[in-house]
This record gives sequence, C-alpha cells and structure tokens, in this order.
Amino acid sequence: MARIVMKFGGTSMAGTERIRRVARIVQRQQAAGHEVAVVVSAMAGETNRLVQFADEAQAIHDPAEYDVVVASGEQVTAGLLAMHLQSIGSKARSWLGWQLPVRTDDAHAKARIEGIDSDAVLASMAAGEIAVIPGFRGVSPQGRVTTLGRGGSDTSAVAVAAAVKADRCDIYTDVDGVYTTDPRIVAKAQKLKYVTYEEMLELASVGSKVLQTRSVSLAMKEGVRVQVLSSFIEDDAPAADTIPGTMIVSDEELEGIEMERQLITGIAADKNEAKITLTRIADRPGAVAQIFGPLAAANINVDMIIQNIAKDKGETDVTFTVPGADLARTQALLEAQKEAIGYYRMIADSKVAKISVVGVGMKSHAGVAATMFRSLADRGINIQAISTSEIKVSVLIDEDETELAVRVLHSAYELDAKDEAA
Ligand code: ASP
Ligand code: MG
Repeated sequence: MARIVMKFGGTSMAGTERIRRVARIVQRQQAAGHEVAVVVSAMAGETNRLVQFADEAQAIHDPAEYDVVVASGEQVTAGLLAMHLQSIGSKARSWLGWQLPVRTDDAHAKARIEGIDSDAVLASMAAGEIAVIPGFRGVSPQGRVTTLGRGGSDTSAVAVAAAVKADRCDIYTDVDGVYTTDPRIVAKAQKLKYVTYEEMLELASVGSKVLQTRSVSLAMKEGVRVQVLSSFIEDDAPAADTIPGTMIVSDEELEGIEMERQLITGIAADKNEAKITLTRIADRPGAVAQIFGPLAAANINVDMIIQNIAKDKGETDVTFTVPGADLARTQALLEAQKEAIGYYRMIADSKVAKISVVGVGMKSHAGVAATMFRSLADRGINIQAISTSEIKVSVLIDEDETELAVRVLHSAYELDAKDEAA
C-alpha cells in the first residue's frame, strides 16, 4: 500500500463527462490499495473568465478580493469530483481552506506556501475516504483567501504530497509525459521515462510548459517524486503504478536506475525572449552595473548577457535578453537612464528564439557545445548569443529558424526515435 496524491488539470476537469472519467481513474487508484488525495484545477477557461470579471470590476484590483474571485473555480470542481466519486460508490469529501489550511504568506495572486496542517486529512484518508482538495489557493496569516499564481495547482499538489509524505505525486494532464522535444515540431520525439528535477527545471524555464516551474523547485526541495501522465486514458489503460508517464526524480535515484545516461535529455525552444543591444558603452568599472541595477530593481529577469572587449576609444557594445513581456518596460527604463549609462543607441529585437539543449549527462562529457555550434553552422543558422549552465547550453537565434534548429539538434544528439519497422 502506498499513499498517492493525484492532480488533475483544467482540461481533465472540464465538464461532467470528464469529471466522471477522473472519478473512475481515482477510484482505480484506491482499489489498488492506496490511500488517495486528489488536488484539482478549475475547469479549463474558468480562471480566465473569473479574471475578466475582476478586470471589469476594478482597473486596479483589491488584491484580496481578486483572490476571492479567482480562487472560486477550484471550489466548484472539488465539490463536483467528490459528488462523482460518491455516485460510483467511493467514500469521498472535499477539504476547503478552513478545513485543510494551506498556509501562505499574504502576497495575493502570487502567494507562497508556508505549510499545510494535514492531521485531519491524514486521519480521513487512513479511514478510506478520498480527500478532494482545491488547488491554486491558500490562506494568508490574516485568514484571507490567497492564490498561488497562474498554473499554481501543480504547486498545490506537490505541497500536499510533501505534507502527507506521499510516495508519489501523479500529475494527470493533457500530455502523456515529458518528451525529448515538442512532438509537434519533431515527430520522432520520444517520451522520457525519467528526468531529474534539475533537468525538468531547466526545461520548464526554457519553454517546455508541462508543469509550473515552482512546483518542480518545491518537489526538488522536498524530495517529492512526481509523475506526469495523461488523464485521457481508457478504463483498461496500464495503471499509474506501472509508470506509464514520465517520473521526475533526484539524480541519485536515477543513477540507481539507469547506468548510462544519454548525453542530452531534451531540447527546448522559447520564443518569448527579446534581445536588446546598447552600443558604445564606456569600458570602465561600473558601466554594466549601471545597466542591470535598475532592471533588477524593476524585477526584470535578464538571461543571456554578452559584452565585447573594448575596441578603439575604450567603448563596447552590450547585448542581453529579457522576457518578451518585459521588453517595453525595459526599453522605457533604459531610455530614462540613457545619460547615466552613457550609451549611444538602443536596438531591440523580439524576433529571436532561445534554443537550449539540456542534460545531466553533459556534466561528465566534453564537446556538447561544440556539437551544437557545428550542427547549427552546417545549416547556416547564425548564433547571436550563448549562455551555459552545468547542465544546459542555450543559444539565441532568429525566430524563423526555431523549428529547423530544434530538428537539427534532435538528430545531432541522436534523440530521434528509431523506426519500429527496421
Ligand atoms: N486554475 C488556475 C489557473 O488557471 C490554477 C491552475 O489551473 O493550475 O491558473
Ligand atoms: Mg497547468
């Protein structure tokens, strides 16, 4: 017997038929002998609808009332799932914020979880009752409803799994796992059986939006084993216990399972970056601090940075990337600082894409970057900026070449699925 937390996203909960199927999946887990808690999202589209109502009510929201409104979608699906479970003969009940307090700080709309008081829910689960918990929401120190930021119910599920010391947190979604790259770009992309927390974090931060990034950091910190799997399955599909999806685990656990790691685990593309170049900046101490200080203060995340060595006159160009959504704000800030920084021109380009190859295998292998640069060069793809971490190499290229670059790299690192027929 194990203790399992199951999480269902908005697409899986959209409407009576789908909730009925979710109820059957949940009941099957319990029938396999497990203690089960379920965390649910609002029905797909519902949170957007609620946000729009809030927008129409106030141009600048009262943050606490905004959360009262947008948190409500999850209350509906939690109650409905408990009802569907009861209809098929399971014992089940919902747990709202004053019954199972998910304690957060008071940063409304982006609250962070501080702890979960899980004694009551554990007793109920031990007595054979399925616990249904609305995701996305918590309660502030002032006793008001908070929400965790869009996509936050993944984080709710991992936090519940940590609190009840679950053996596994199964995240049921509309994809059946984590792939070597986006299967819509590369038909021969393969589903990964395992990926490490670190890899998943890198993949999530560079555009592979399977899970909310925060949920992965939390799982890593708390050592929660997470499986991503599909909720669109037939009643006779292989049980979740056989790991039909992708398991996200620690480096150590993976080493015990797979002796030889692939060099590269996955390739991700992110078109939401924008590039800015400031020309002819004085090559002196403090010049770069002058640029990035104000951006940091404005909470703008700078990713890749290139500074050339000074040419004549002791001047240099600085190029960097920011999230596309922050481009206008960044330009305004830098425009205001033009005198203080002392640059000549600002050139912005949002038609860029960041392509990343990710894998813990590269920690112990040389030549990963060289293969990347050579493969792209052979196809005439120009690299505009580069950044690296211990398990990732990213390059910035022209957005129009995104798909080509991903395909070329997927083959170059031998990630293409072999033909079945051969
Ligand atoms: N319903 C919330 C949202 O749409 C939370 C979630 O689904 O994860 O952002
Ligand atoms: Mg989601």
